[in-house]
Amino acid sequence: MGRKPDEHVDGCRGSNGSPVQPQLLSRINEASVLRAIRQYGPSTRGELTQHMGVTFPTVAKAVSSLLDARLLEEFDDAMTGPGRPAKRLRLSREDSLVVGVTVDVRSCEVAAAGFDGVIREGTQKSFATPASYGKLLLAIVEHVESLRTDDVPILCVGVSVVGLVDYRRQEIRLAVSLPFLAGKKLGQDLSERLGADCALVHDSHALCLAEYVYGEAGNLDSFAVLDLCSGIGLGVMVNHVFLTGHSGFAGEMGHIPIVPNGRKCRCGRRGCLETVASEWVLLDRLSERLERPIEFDEAITLALKGDKRVRSELNRLCKYLAIAMAHVVNLFDPQCVYVTGRLFDRLPWLRDHLVARARPATLEPAFDNCRFLTSSGTNLLGAVAAAISAVTSSRVHKLNDTLSGITLAVARRQLAR
Ligand SMILES: [Zn+2]
Repeated sequence: MGRKPDEHVDGCRGSNGSPVQPQLLSRINEASVLRAIRQYGPSTRGELTQHMGVTFPTVAKAVSSLLDARLLEEFDDAMTGPGRPAKRLRLSREDSLVVGVTVDVRSCEVAAAGFDGVIREGTQKSFATPASYGKLLLAIVEHVESLRTDDVPILCVGVSVVGLVDYRRQEIRLAVSLPFLAGKKLGQDLSERLGADCALVHDSHALCLAEYVYGEAGNLDSFAVLDLCSGIGLGVMVNHVFLTGHSGFAGEMGHIPIVPNGRKCRCGRRGCLETVASEWVLLDRLSERLERPIEFDEAITLALKGDKRVRSELNRLCKYLAIAMAHVVNLFDPQCVYVTGRLFDRLPWLRDHLVARARPATLEPAFDNCRFLTSSGTNLLGAVAAAISAVTSSRVHKLNDTLSGITLAVARRQLAR
């Protein structure tokens, strides 16, 4: 069994009885301190000792190393009553810099954050997605460079991309909505140009990370994020382990076959879920019915006016998406399924309609255990979360899969040079 996220090491033997290298042991304890502060908030060394169940010197040593690395910062807690204020530790805000980048079909975003994950005011920028890979690299590098400050190095750049990411090969393998990304090692290419580590993450996985790090899902052990964006994506956390599969392809919900010999999908196959339950097929079908091209905003306006053709197409979309949702609940038994996408943002009642349709298709005990909510996460927050996870994991790289439950394509500076 893998190590649970809140476990740590205070002894000197690994789970197989073999001696654990002292340096590795220190790194594991440092990662445990970071996780404890993320979980419990700003803490004193004494509180960390209690949270982690290890000795005070073990905590003090790990904290000292993390202060040196600028991942933690210390502040006086004036709220503890009379006497000397306690020194509290929090994730570094001012002395650290991580960058989040999103690459989507229509636009890209860039923002800077501290290691605490809070996006810095005034740093969020967006730009139209360039038409070629070379121009995309240039645009991202230019925007990230503008966020640099002289004395604070970039710890990591998290990049959320609309495409299938092979986390082992650090390569985008399939990008049906942005084909020039296919076969590209975007993390590595950016790392070479920026001289900083880059963590590449599939956009649906980014949403899952965002919900875990920023949303209330941080208190859950199992949840799923169903993402109706340019296609249909799925991010899943089961028992605190973020599921990526062997290479990173887990969660490709949009391309499960659902209609034998159905409509042609953007992936080249026929009858995928996307061909009956995605935003693009909704607009395609509405354009056919109205006998003219129709864009998203007009479809929403018509839906709000009660247009019968749009309503019936939305009904059809929900019929199939409900089947996908039933699969998710039956397969993973999540405590919560977060539904996300601009369709649900603009038509909030659609989520309730979807859940009502999913109920009869889902095993009752699993359905009754599960809540269905709208996600508050964004790809940009997910990209920042990916960067932070990569920094934490890099301190225990030999155990990153079991300690953090998160394995991403991280291009390291030393590899890129
Ligand atoms: Zn497909």
